[in-house]
Amino acid sequence: MTEESAALYVVPTPLGNLADLTRRAEEILRTVPWVAAEDTRHSGPLLKQLGAQARTIPAHQHNEHEAAVRIIEKLLAGEAVALISDAGTPGISDPGARIVAAVRAAGCKVIPLPGPCAATTALSGSGLLDEHFMFYGFLPSKGGQRRQVLEDLRDYPCALVFYEAPHRVLETVADLATVLGERTLVIGRELTKLFESIHSCPLSEALEWLKGDPNRQRGEFVLMLSGAPENGEDGEGERVLKLLLADGLPVKQAAKLASAITGMAKNALYERALALKS
Ligand code: SAM
Repeated sequence: MTEESAALYVVPTPLGNLADLTRRAEEILRTVPWVAAEDTRHSGPLLKQLGAQARTIPAHQHNEHEAAVRIIEKLLAGEAVALISDAGTPGISDPGARIVAAVRAAGCKVIPLPGPCAATTALSGSGLLDEHFMFYGFLPSKGGQRRQVLEDLRDYPCALVFYEAPHRVLETVADLATVLGERTLVIGRELTKLFESIHSCPLSEALEWLKGDPNRQRGEFVLMLSGAPENGEDGEGERVLKLLLADGLPVKQAAKLASAITGMAKNALYERALALKS
């Protein structure tokens, strides 16, 4: 090990493309004596491919406490441990946070590595203009609870980021449209994988778009929404329209461009541009 040895390294792993493992992550996984893994069978092929010799400690949602005890034992004995989840960053909608808390409480060192995370990967390709975002992760699976959470989030003046599984994406998008009203939805699907796609559209048109092709409902999803306008401030569409009109663009062209930029409905933007112009 070239890094400090007796530490817990929190190591993000690829979402789908092995080349996304950082050099530092690779070196740590190859050299630590212990890897605490969410699913040791799932992570086995990755560790094997790296030529890692580490022994594994199961560290999943249902045994984080026992896993933490074993990990702390190793750390106190002067051995390094790497913590990984099935994909992406441990502790982000994945097990890991309780282990990290216990290790830090025991006075042992935690060293987090930067790396793959579906939320930040998706956001960076979303084109959403919001300056702030709120990462929520998975919404509740029950409709009533899900709609209640969305009610609570409706007025947040920042982009909202959700994770969703394919078997629930239609019902979740339907609830998003019902509760949040019109705004831009960006659907990031299968990022870093063969069938990667990013689609922006007005939230009111998203369900129809998803139903238009069963392939659009397959795989892993990040759902991103533009935030609610702050009190007295312009929404995203209004902001972009005003900029374009101020630049001297004709109403029709401004609406067309604003729709392409924000994913909002062209007709609604056209009406708004006419009103702004007059
Ligand atoms: N810890 C992971 C991270 O850092 O992103 C997230 C793990 S969580 C159990 C899995 C969820 O992340 C999936 O249901 C999906 O919502 C999202 N996700 C993971 N990989 C993805 C990908 N390649 N494309 C889009 N979303 C993905």
